[in-house]
Amino acid sequence: CLKKKVQSRSDWQMTVNSVRRTARAKVNLTLHVTGQRADGYHLLDSLVCFADIGDFIDMREADALSLSVDGPLAAGVPTDERNLVLQAARLFGADKGAAINLSKHLPHAAGIGGGSADAAATLLALAELWDLPLPEDVVRLGADVPVCLSPMALRMRGVGDELSVVPPLPELPAVLVNPRVAVETPPVFKALTQKENAPMGVVPECADVGVFAKWCAEQRNDLQAPAISIEPTIQDALDALEPALFARMSGSGATCFGLCENADSTKELAKTIRGKHPDWWVVATNFS
Ligand code: ATP
Repeated sequence: CLKKKVQSRSDWQMTVNSVRRTARAKVNLTLHVTGQRADGYHLLDSLVCFADIGDFIDMREADALSLSVDGPLAAGVPTDERNLVLQAARLFGADKGAAINLSKHLPHAAGIGGGSADAAATLLALAELWDLPLPEDVVRLGADVPVCLSPMALRMRGVGDELSVVPPLPELPAVLVNPRVAVETPPVFKALTQKENAPMGVVPECADVGVFAKWCAEQRNDLQAPAISIEPTIQDALDALEPALFARMSGSGATCFGLCENADSTKELAKTIRGKHPDWWVVATNFS
């Protein structure tokens, strides 16, 4: 009788009909461009971590596949097949339906992988909802999609398909700043003239944000200067983050981050920046 009860309980647990996932913002603490393949894809070497803020993906079983987009930063995000959420769903090649809602809280075209994080969260949620294995070759959706499937910081190399574990990062209180300019990635890569650059150094094992910030400062984001040449406001965001231990642009911009001593200093810095730039997107957060 007990066995039957356990059996029926596990049967019930396997019937999932709605799922919610957070698509956390990805942050490139470093981003070295180490080469370019003959097919045009760039080779990267990047330490990628995740902020504790993100978009929300909610889905439930339905007869057909559909997507609605809402939330404070939904403006400008495509709701049709261009949306990476729908492209991620199509990659399963399954004849199944789901009603998906994407609530946008991250700015798009911002260098914090909004679309990639949404795609990765969709893949994980649909695998659960449809009880299917993850599709292979998810890097086809975008270089940042494989890393965004991870719950923790990783080193990303190749064209985004080579992921390796790094020592646990220290607590990383941080402020994210986007000066509300959308930056598309292809022109930034195009503006990078030197494609073969030195790789990232070895990620240190340390428990102190100050020591870690010094190591970050010795690394680079090779896309930062080209992005500033296209969108000089990025330099204003970096200047606003000057009181932080260390500041850099993430991805191809325009979002910049500043690592701070503790949570109180992130809140204080965020408040100061918001006071001076009420139209900017400014968030006090934590990276992990
Ligand atoms: P990355 O850091 O990976 O380079 P990003 O943060 O610069 O990415 P995204 O937010 O992914 O850029 O947006 C890039 C483009 O992708 C946008 O201009 C938008 O039209 C399109 N897009 C497709 N799906 C989404 C989505 N779910 N959220 C945001 N943008 C999306």
